[in-house]
Amino acid sequence: MDYLAGLNPSQRAAVEHTEGPVMIVAGAGSGKTRVITYRVAHLIRRGVDPFNILVLTFTNKAAKEMRERIMKVVGDEAKNIWMGTFHSVFAKILRVEAEHIGYPRNFTIYDTDDSKSLLRSILKEMQLDDKLYNASFVYNRISSAKNNLISAQEYLSSEQIQAEDHSNGRGQLGQIYMTYTQRCYKAGAMDFDDLLFKTNVLFREHPDVLHKYQHKFKYLMVDEYQDTNFSQYLIVRKLAAINENICVVGDDAQSIYAFRGANIQNILNFEKDYPDLKVFKLEQNYRSTQNIVNAANSIIANNKNQLKKNVFSENEQGEKIKVCRAFSDNEEGKIVAEAISQERALKGLAYRDFAILYRTNAQSRAMEEALRKINIPYKIYGGTSFYQRKEIKDLIAYFRLTFNPNDEEAIKRVINYPRRGIGDTTVDRILIAADKHQRTLWEVISQAPVYLDGRSAGAVGAFATMIQGFQVVAKNHSAFDAAMHIAQHSGILKDLYADKSVEGLSRYENIQELLNGIKEFTEREDIAEKGLDVFMQDVALLTNDDNDKDPNADTVSLMTIHSSKGLEFPHVFIVGLEENLFPSQLSLNSRSELEEERRLFYVAVTRAEKKLTLSYATSRYRWGTLNNCEPSRFLDELNPACLELDFRSRPAPENAGSFADERQAWGQRDVFTRPKPKVMPKTTAMLPKAHTPTPGFAPSDTSNLQVGMEVEHERFGFGKVINLEGSKNDVKATIFFKELGQKQLLLKFAKLRIV
Ligand code: ATP
Ligand code: MG
Repeated sequence: MDYLAGLNPSQRAAVEHTEGPVMIVAGAGSGKTRVITYRVAHLIRRGVDPFNILVLTFTNKAAKEMRERIMKVVGDEAKNIWMGTFHSVFAKILRVEAEHIGYPRNFTIYDTDDSKSLLRSILKEMQLDDKLYNASFVYNRISSAKNNLISAQEYLSSEQIQAEDHSNGRGQLGQIYMTYTQRCYKAGAMDFDDLLFKTNVLFREHPDVLHKYQHKFKYLMVDEYQDTNFSQYLIVRKLAAINENICVVGDDAQSIYAFRGANIQNILNFEKDYPDLKVFKLEQNYRSTQNIVNAANSIIANNKNQLKKNVFSENEQGEKIKVCRAFSDNEEGKIVAEAISQERALKGLAYRDFAILYRTNAQSRAMEEALRKINIPYKIYGGTSFYQRKEIKDLIAYFRLTFNPNDEEAIKRVINYPRRGIGDTTVDRILIAADKHQRTLWEVISQAPVYLDGRSAGAVGAFATMIQGFQVVAKNHSAFDAAMHIAQHSGILKDLYADKSVEGLSRYENIQELLNGIKEFTEREDIAEKGLDVFMQDVALLTNDDNDKDPNADTVSLMTIHSSKGLEFPHVFIVGLEENLFPSQLSLNSRSELEEERRLFYVAVTRAEKKLTLSYATSRYRWGTLNNCEPSRFLDELNPACLELDFRSRPAPENAGSFADERQAWGQRDVFTRPKPKVMPKTTAMLPKAHTPTPGFAPSDTSNLQVGMEVEHERFGFGKVINLEGSKNDVKATIFFKELGQKQLLLKFAKLRIV
C-alpha cells in the first residue's frame, strides 16, 4: 500500500473512502487534484476496471497530467480510464449515440466563430437591428439558456422570459434561438453548449442509453466542481444515480466561471442530493510558500460571500511578493522578460519554471514581443490557439465539408475561398433557393443546374464536383494523403504560396504545420483507423495545449488566468494589475462581479510555488489612444507584510517629450495611493511630500490596537498595523505606512490615531 504514502491522513481517508458520495471543499494547493489522482490509482489497484471510471477535469492539460501520474502507479491500464473535460467526454459519447436524437454520428462541432457567423446571417435575414441584437450578445443569451437547459421551444413559451425580453425591446430573441437551433440541426452541427445540452436530452429521452452509461461508469470523479454549470451538474447527477459512487472536489474561493453559468449552488446542492454524503476537509497547502499563502488569504478575506476556510502552509516562509511598476505595457513586458532571464541564470532554473498570467488575451502581445526580443522561448496556452487561425480554419472547413457536406458554416467559409467566381450575389441566390424549395445548401449546390441560372450554376457546380472528388479521395486514402490532396486541389496552398509577405509566409507555414500534425497522426501506432475523418473527430475541441508539438520543450508559459486554474509553476508573474483591467471594467457594477474578479486574483496568486511577482503599467494603449492607469485595488488588499516594492526608476526614453516627463512623474507615485487620474499631473506636483495630518488630528487611545487596524500617524501618514509585540507598557507596533513602508514604533510614544 506504499503508493498511498504521499498523502496526509485526511487526504488518505478521502482516497480510501471509495464507496458512496464524497465531497472535498478545500483551499488552493491543498491536494484536491492529488486526491482524485490517487483515488483512481487506488480503485484500479483494488481491481476496478479502468473502463468503469469516469474523471471529469477542467482542462485537457489537467487530464493529460493526471493520466500520466496514474500510469506511473498502475501502468498502461490507465489509458482506458474515461478522462477529460466535460465537452470532450460527452462529445465522444454523442459520437456513438447521436442517432438516437436525430443527429448524424459525424456531426460537426461549431466553434464560437461558426455560431456567431450563423447568428449574423440569421439576424440579417430577419432584418433585425444589429445594435439591439448583436451576434455576441445573442450568442451569450442562447448559451446561457442552453446551460440552464431551456430549449428554444421552452424559451418561446415561457411567459416570464418573453415578458422580460419584450420589456428590454428584444422580443425576437426567442425566434432567433429557434431559427438558430433549426439551422444547426439541418446542418448536422452542434455548438459547444449543445454537447452538454444534447447529452441531457439524450439521457432524458432515452432511459435505456442513460442506463447503459450509469452501469458503465461505476465510479465518477469531478475536479473543479465549483465551476460546473447546471447542465453539467445534471449530467453528473444522472450518471451517478445508480451507484452513487461519486466524488467531487472544489474550492468556492476559486469559482471563476459564473459568467458562463457556473453556480456555487452546485456545492450546496450536493449535500441535499446525497444525505449520506461524506465530507473531507483539507487545510494544508503544499504548493506555495507561507508568504504566498498568507497573501492569498488576505485577498480572499475581502470577499463577503465565502465559506470560511483555514489554509496554511508549512513550507518555507519564502521570498516576499515583488510589486513592479512600469511606464507602459511594453516596459512591463521588458521588466518581466529581464527578470525571467536573470532569475533563470542566477538560480539555474529552466524556462518551464516560469509562467506569465494575464487577465485578457490581448495582453499577451507586449509580453510576447519582449520575450522574443531577448530570445526567451515561450508558449501560449488556450486562447489564440493554432486551430483558431484563419488559414487553419479554412482548410479544416474543406475537411468538414468532405465528411458532412451539409455543414453550412463550412460552405459559407470556403465556397469562394480561394476565389472561384462565386460572389455574394450567387451565395445569396443559393440561400434564397434553399429557403424557397426547403432544401439544404448542399442540395442546391450539388444540383446547381436545377436551382440556379446558367452562369452561377457553372461555378457552383464545379465547386460541388470538387467536394465530391474529395469525398472519394478521403475514403480511399490515409489522413495525410487525403489532407494533402485537399490542400492542393482546393487551391489553398497555391493561394498562400503566392503571398510573399511575412504574414503570408507564416500562414503558409501554419498549413504546413497542420499537415505535419496529420502526418504524425497517421504514423501513430496506437490507433487502427487512420482516416482523415478520425483525425477530424475532435479537431473542433482542440486547443493549443492538445496540439503540443513537443510537450517537453523548455518554454515559459503564457496564459490567461482563467486557463491557469489547477496548474502550478515555481515562478509566477501576474501582469496588468490596474484598475479597469484587473478588476476588469465590466466587473465594477456589482459586488458579486467584483468578488468574482477577486476570486480570479486569488486563483492567479495561488498558482505560484516559490516566487510571485506582480506588475502594473502606469499607461497603456487602448483602442489606439494612450491612457493613464491606476494601480489595481487588489494591490491595496494584499497583506503589506508579504510585499516588497520594486520601483527602480528607469531613465526616460531618449526622445522624451511631455508624455515621458509626465510618465516619469507618474512613476514616482506609490503603489498604494490611487489617484483620480484623467487630468495628467504636472511633474513635480506628484513627488511624495511630507504628510499633512488630517485637520484636527489628535492621538487617540491605542491600548485596544489590533493587527489589521488602519491608523494615521502625525508625520508618517496612513498605514496598517501588521504586528504587535511586547508587554503591557512596552508594546511595539509594526506598521506598514502607505508612503514610507514598514516602521516599528513604541506605542506609548507614537502619535497615532485609529481611523
Ligand atoms: P487547486 O485548488 O489549485 O486545484 P489542489 O487542491 O488541486 O489545488 P493539488 O494540485 O492537488 O492541489 O496539490 C498542490 C501541490 O501540492 C501539488 O504539487 C501536489 O503534488 C502537492 N501535494 C499535495 N498533497 C501533498 C502531500 N500530502 N505531500 C506532498 N505534496 C503534496
Ligand atoms: Mg486542483
